[in-house]
Amino acid sequence: MHIASRCAELLAAALEFQGPSKADCRYLLALPPDSLEIELTRSVANTVMRRRFRNEAILLGQIGIDVFPCPGGCQFCAFGEGHTGFTASSLALEEILQRAHAFADGGDLFALFLMAMHTFDFARLLTVVSAVRRELPRHTQIVLNIGDFDLARAQELKAAGVNGAYHVLRLREGEDTALDPDARRATIGALREAGLDCYYCCEPIGPEHTPDELVEQLFVGIEYGCFQHAAMRRVAVPGSPLAARGQITEHRLAQITAVVALASLHSASTRNIAVHEPNLIGLTSGANVVYAETGINPRDTAADTSTGRGLDMAACRRMMYEAGFSALQRGDGTLIPLADVFAESQGIAGPG
Ligand code: SF4
Repeated sequence: MHIASRCAELLAAALEFQGPSKADCRYLLALPPDSLEIELTRSVANTVMRRRFRNEAILLGQIGIDVFPCPGGCQFCAFGEGHTGFTASSLALEEILQRAHAFADGGDLFALFLMAMHTFDFARLLTVVSAVRRELPRHTQIVLNIGDFDLARAQELKAAGVNGAYHVLRLREGEDTALDPDARRATIGALREAGLDCYYCCEPIGPEHTPDELVEQLFVGIEYGCFQHAAMRRVAVPGSPLAARGQITEHRLAQITAVVALASLHSASTRNIAVHEPNLIGLTSGANVVYAETGINPRDTAADTSTGRGLDMAACRRMMYEAGFSALQRGDGTLIPLADVFAESQGIAGPG
């Protein structure tokens, strides 16, 4: 069997938990997804991450709480001002709590994500966070997916019970979005300074993004010591300006997921790797996290994504089982064996 020596060397180092350099990542991302080198890279990333994370997986749930034409103006997003078909609406607190229960009542939710638009009502957000915190079990964390905020707000959110925030300097931020790249970075700095976990992602990946762009963007998460790194492809949302640029395959996404996972060996703070949207190729290429979704979703034109693109908890749980993970980790570090979860979902007794 012949494999390029550069690839063989960097994969051997990865098996010793040494991450590839930026130049190595560029090299891997420029190879065809169906090359032997990349099929091996996915396999090594899968092996290394399962060793790093003890073959444990994580389930996350996201609720979109508000929607309106968003001034973020992201040209790939279903809510961007100027092209969205959505009008303003908000979930009532009771509805948010009901949906929070639907995610958490299975007892295996690591964290509940609350998602709003780029601009948001901070007082309402604090009210929602406090109410959700009271409802959720201690083993489920709360993470926000909102617009920019400063250190004072990050500290207030932490005091209200927030554990982390999803915040990303996106690919072509400021070009394909109306947002300021410096403000995105400043928010990541603020949330880290406040002691919140940073959930980062290489996103939203389209066919036009070069290896150079992908590498520079994904290393920002490593620079900030992200708790979670991830890869997400851009979905060609009907009516969004970037839909015409097309969509990468799950196979290419898995290649990028593997590179993200291996690059994250440089960050001791990185505790898991996600792939969006949930898929089995990504979960066997270095990822161990998927998100279940309900309500609005920037990749979907349905008002409730659980009737559209979003997967529910049962489907995500089943996918983790099929991917061969042994247990689901909860937000307090306790574990739920996946064999038990699967047996219970089938209405048969678990193994013990
Ligand atoms: S991705 Fe976020 S910031 Fe951008 S338009 Fe959509 S909701 Fe707004």
